[in-house]
This record gives sequence, C-alpha cells and structure tokens, in this order.
Amino acid sequence: KTAARATDVWKVYGTGEAQVIALHGVTAEFAAGQFTAIMGPSGSGKSTLMHCLAGLDFTNRGEIHVGDTNVTGLSDRGLTKLRRDKVGFIFQQFNLLPTLTAEENILLPLSIGKRKPDRAWFDQVIDTVGLRDRLHHKPTELSGGQQQRVACARALVQRPEVIFADEPTGNLDSRAGSEVLKFLRRSVDEFQQTIVMVTHDPVAASYADRVLFLADGQVVDEMFDPTADRVL
Ligand code: ADP
Ligand code: ADP
Repeated sequence: KTAARATDVWKVYGTGEAQVIALHGVTAEFAAGQFTAIMGPSGSGKSTLMHCLAGLDFTNRGEIHVGDTNVTGLSDRGLTKLRRDKVGFIFQQFNLLPTLTAEENILLPLSIGKRKPDRAWFDQVIDTVGLRDRLHHKPTELSGGQQQRVACARALVQRPEVIFADEPTGNLDSRAGSEVLKFLRRSVDEFQQTIVMVTHDPVAASYADRVLFLADGQVVDEMFDPTADRVL
C-alpha cells in the first residue's frame, strides 16, 4: 500500500528572469509504514517537495496522492481538510501554542477537527514519547527536546496517513535529537506510521528505512537501510 505518491511533479517559482524550477518532474512513492529521509544540498527542492506532498503548496504539473486522495485536484477547502485530517507536521521550531499545556497542544488538531480523542490511544502515544509527567506543563517549562516530543505526539495522536517532519532535530542537541528520532522510529515499528523527514543530518537519516537524495529538483539517488557512515 502507498501512503503518498508524487508523479512527475514540477514546481516553478516566479516568472521571467526570476524564474526558478524547484522541482523537475519528481516521481517518488512512500509506502505505508515506511520511514523515508529526504536529503540533498540546500536549494535542491527538499522543502518544496514536502510542501507539495503535504498540500501546503500547489504543483505546476504532475500529481500528488495522499492515501486515496488526489491532492492535485483539491480546492482550498479540500486542502485545509487534508492538512487537518490526513497529515501531521513536525517543524524545526516545534510550533507549539505557548498558552496551552502539553496535553492541550497534543489534542488541539483533534479538537479543531471536531474529532473525539481515543483515550487509550492517547495514553499509548504519551507513554511511547515519555511525556507522562509533563502533560500539564506549558512549552516554556519544557526543554527543547521535550517540546519537540510534544510536537511529535501531536502529529501521531491524530493517526495521520503521513507525518511530515522538516528538520525535526535541527534545533536540538544530539541527545535531545536522538530521543525524538527514537520516538519516530518506534512510531514506525510499533504503530506502522508512515514518515517523510527532511534532514541535513546523516545520523538523523540513519534512523530511516530509506533515503532519497535530491539535487537540482530531481531525485538522483536512493538508499535502503542507511547507516550514518554510508549516508555521509
Ligand atoms: P531545500 O529545501 O532543498 O533547501 P527548497 O525547496 O527550499 O530547497 O528550494 C528549492 C529552490 O526553490 C531554491 O532555488 C529556492 O531558492 C527556490 N524557492 C523556494 N521557495 C521559494 C519561493 N517561495 N519563492 C521563490 N523561490 C523559492
Ligand atoms: P530532556 O533530556 O528530557 O529533554 P533536559 O535534560 O534538557 O531534558 O532538561 C531537564 C529538565 O530541566 C527538564 O525536565 C525540563 O523540565 C527542565 N528544563 C530544561 N530546559 C529548560 C528550559 N529552557 N526552560 C525550562 N525548563 C527547562
């Protein structure tokens, strides 16, 4: 089963002299339950590809599918629904709401989508991510690693088709980063979560099942079962 797919996707920014072709006909499949890292030089199109896959940005040509949904054909309203119900995001900057507790942040996407939290599933996610004793803390009362784990729990608890993570360890020291990566790995191994992660870090990429390498808006290489020294 395929959780997400890009088929011959082109993305162009700007016009005339200022035109940049960010994606040159990218085709990539993301199998359900697979953890993929996307790597490549700065400006190679990693963020653009992820934004197109997640319905955060339009493509100029080609098709995007997330689960059974043809994202390319969606209206603005459909895209909002896709982002709300089908995909989870983890950002470099955590993006937690400062006035809410960890628990309220984690449950926010469900309450926005008017979906009832499954308490048993919530408890399982909290124990996996190791936040049981931090649920009533505000983000400023948490370390960076804990804040990012709250963001991970917020993404996983809604059981999205795909979690998209953009440099999730970019703001963390290596110890806090490895806690986040271990959690992402466990969510794949134990809950068959599909994850697509953009990263510069070979250690982060080594937690994935597969690495896609982008250069100049194209997929130029693919590696399975990476280890940090091979990714380098
Ligand atoms: P990466 O994530 O690999 O660093 P990006 O996807 O951010 O690469 O960018 C790919 C190319 O598209 C780059 O040349 C970048 O300058 C350009 N680009 C990205 N976003 C925009 C934008 N909003 N407007 C114009 N050009 C952009
Ligand atoms: P962890 O390894 O669990 O991410 P740390 O070792 O970084 O935690 O932090 C230890 C404790 O100190 C945490 O439980 C957290 O409550 C507190 N703490 C760490 N950083 C901050 C911070 N910037 N502001 C407030 N409390 C913090």
